[in-house]
Parts: sequence; C-alpha cells; structure tokens
Amino acid sequence: MDTNASREFLENLLEIGRDESFCFDCNSSVPCFNRCCAELALPLTPYDVLRLCRQLGMNGEDFLRRFAVMRSFPDTGFPLPMLNMLECPGAPCPFVAPAGCMVYEDRPGACRCYPLGRGASMGTWGNVTERFFLVREDYCKGFDKGTARVPAQWFDDQQIAVYNAVNDRYMRLITMVRATGKPLEACLAATAELCFFQLDKFREFIKKMRIFERVKIDDAHNAAVMDESLAGDEAALDFALDWMELVIFGKSKGLEKN
Ligand code: SF4
Ligand code: SF4
Repeated sequence: MDTNASREFLENLLEIGRDESFCFDCNSSVPCFNRCCAELALPLTPYDVLRLCRQLGMNGEDFLRRFAVMRSFPDTGFPLPMLNMLECPGAPCPFVAPAGCMVYEDRPGACRCYPLGRGASMGTWGNVTERFFLVREDYCKGFDKGTARVPAQWFDDQQIAVYNAVNDRYMRLITMVRATGKPLEACLAATAELCFFQLDKFREFIKKMRIFERVKIDDAHNAAVMDESLAGDEAALDFALDWMELVIFGKSKGLEKN
C-alpha cells in the first residue's frame, strides 16, 4: 500500500481522539477467531521484518524470498515488502494456525495496532503528529462486549512503542527523500533494501566497505551494531537509518563522517 492509498484508507475510518475510549477485546473464544488473519494487504516495515526473522530463525534474504513480495513506495522508491497470503481458499496469513498467531510475540506492528489504525505525519521540525482511527470490520465481534481503553492503553498492552519509534525513523527518512521531489536511484534503493531488511548482509557490507573507519563511532556503539542479539539487530537497524541518511544527503542527524 503506498502512502497516499494508506492515508486515503485511514481518512475513511472513524477518527478517535487520544483520550477517547473505545471498547474492544479479542481472545480465542470469540466466534470470529482468526477471521482477521486472512486476505490482507500487509506491508512490512524494517522493524517488522527484524522481529519476524528473529522469531523464525531466518535471515532477511530468505525471509523476504519465502514470505513477501517486494514493492516500493512509488514517490520515493524505498523498498516496501508485502506479506504474501497463502495461495489456498480463504488466503490465510502464512503464520495463522487454529490456535492463533504462531509468531504472536513478534507479530507485525499493524497486527498489534488492530483494531486501531495509527496515522503518523512528520512536522516541519521533525516532530511526529499522531492520529488514531478505529478499524471496524463487519465480521469482527471484538467490539460487542469489550473493555474500555484509550489508544495509549491499547498500545501499551500491545507493546508497540518500539515498533512506532523505529517506524517513525523510517518514515522521517522517506519524508526527507519525498521532499526532494526525486525517488531514490535504483542503486540506492537496492542499498536501502540490504541495509533495512537484510541486517546480516548489512553487517557483512559494513566489514567489507570498512564503514566504521569512515564515520565517527565509538567502540561500544561499533560492538553493539555487530552483536547478533535482538538488541544488536535493533542497534544495526538504527545505524542503518543514520548511514542511509548520510549516504543520500551527505549528512545525518545521528552520524558524522570521519
Ligand atoms: S502475523 Fe499473526 S496476527 Fe498478523 S495476520 Fe498473521 S497470523 Fe494474524
Ligand atoms: S475479527 Fe476481531 S475479535 Fe475476531 S479474532 Fe480478529 S480481532 Fe479478534
């Protein structure tokens, strides 16, 4: 889904205020259990792929080949993997099972948000403005007798803060490129795919291209980026966002050239 289509989709939904409560609960006893995990056009962010790769014990390249089709944002050329639904009746998500989501601990941000949609836009000073929308599908029975919560409580319950923080950084970079009026050249788009969606290859690229010798980075930060833990992957993605900003614009808010 491109950003315009995504914005149009959200604008057709019921907007809900930050302090406005909505009633919703979902558990395995609802009659519609798993109904929402099918026939989805589900874009994956770099952080979604990072978490799914860790959950599945796969590298980014194999994950994308097996579970996604790569599209790109039409106005900026940034990579945009879409999760493939299974090619069988009902087109279920590849991760849904009778007992529920098999990757629940590391499910994508959009799955965590549901039934809320979060619209984030970048202000002039790099500040993020959030709006919230209720996604109310006819088949979803979660609204029938749910617990009352405001959006912030729902997001806390779904542990989504880390997803939003990294996604907002990605959106900031995309917004900066959009403001230039020119999409990324093909070689930069390919580099972005490697840096953001194939962290193991990004680490190899760092070593091969001696990137740490070209930027101001201390030993602790260097070690954190190369560490193959969850925290290391998060540090690598954070570094990738700074590095790509430096490559595209010649300067970065978070990283300086040597
Ligand atoms: S990843 Fe999990 S929660 Fe998301 S659509 Fe697939 S099965 Fe459902
Ligand atoms: S359709 Fe709604 S209530 Fe049913 S499983 Fe999905 S989110 Fe839960």
